[in-house]
Amino acid sequence: MKIITIVGARPQFIKAATVSAAIKKAAEAGCDISEKLLHTGQHYDYNLSELIFSELHLPAPEWNLACKDSNTELISQAVEPVLQRESPDLVIVYGDTNSTLAGALAADSLHIPIAHVEAGLRSRNKQMVEEQNRIRTDRLSSLLFCPTYTAVENLRKENITEGVYHVGDVMYDAALRFTPAEQDTDVLSKLGVEPKQFVLTTIHRAETADDPAQLQSILLALQQTGSTVVLPLHPRTARTIAAAPQLKALINSSYNIKVIPPVGYIEMLLLERNASLILTDSGGVQKEAYFQRTPCVTLRRETEWTETVAAGWNSLAGTDTVDILTAVSRAKNGSVINDYGNGHAAERIVETIINL
Ligand code: UDP
Repeated sequence: MKIITIVGARPQFIKAATVSAAIKKAAEAGCDISEKLLHTGQHYDYNLSELIFSELHLPAPEWNLACKDSNTELISQAVEPVLQRESPDLVIVYGDTNSTLAGALAADSLHIPIAHVEAGLRSRNKQMVEEQNRIRTDRLSSLLFCPTYTAVENLRKENITEGVYHVGDVMYDAALRFTPAEQDTDVLSKLGVEPKQFVLTTIHRAETADDPAQLQSILLALQQTGSTVVLPLHPRTARTIAAAPQLKALINSSYNIKVIPPVGYIEMLLLERNASLILTDSGGVQKEAYFQRTPCVTLRRETEWTETVAAGWNSLAGTDTVDILTAVSRAKNGSVINDYGNGHAAERIVETIINL
């Protein structure tokens, strides 16, 4: 079986690393299965792409389409000729980015079956591009690998029941595999922070990162937390700050905020484990907060990872300064979440594909 995996953005490299390793293991055990990676080039900064590839031992992509423009239609047009030439038996796509939907659209137009990893997630905010991408990709896919029971239920409510598998979360697999067993004090001492004495923050979603007013509101909250804040700054957010003098001034006058470039995945896992609290608008980071048993405040009004909120680890504050500070003051540990599987979601995905 010939598989082409389509990736384009940082979280997809992390998810694909686990499934790629499981495919390689199956091939080495004698299964007739092979995989080639297609990188759309949606994320192209070294820290967001090459660094993650090398840390996770992902094979270099067979194709890099350098689609720096993240327009779905253009990406799909670039992907289609590759799929046409290669004629794989299956295309695997991950998550909810424009590369996810673009890959699914290209495969669908050539009648190539699609497997969607992280199927069935819904935030119920249809204004979000990610939500539109998820819904459309799920409708095009014939194999839908769900990370949570809620995701299976979401699909059932949309009358999608065929080809649906609850396998657990490949990001949980990745966190178990790549979180260093030993405490690495270099990462913290380099930043001048102590374990459990700092807040970790990421901001990258279009709704927030492209809106100076919302960014200002978040930055004011970070300034007023009274804690040291480590902020690995996504290039998208950095561009908005660079173009807004009031945001630049706010950052420069906030002595408690340590702005750093995006960090590698392993460094990120260590920061998540050692933070006292995580503030984020990222889907993946909300979950990783739980994996590392660190409370989280989400800078959005809704989440697709509802079990983190139900279990008490995560609260939804949005971007209002006062709401964020209130949520920060109430953040706490929660209870165990059983949805994410046992760290073998990737193997279950590959077994299912092989058995079919
Ligand atoms: N991440 C990273 N370095 C950073 C920030 C995030 O490696 O500086 C990782 C993080 O650990 C998680 C993933 O990137 O695994 C989340 O990606 P992102 O927040 O870009 O996307 P989302 O999860 O919201 O789709």
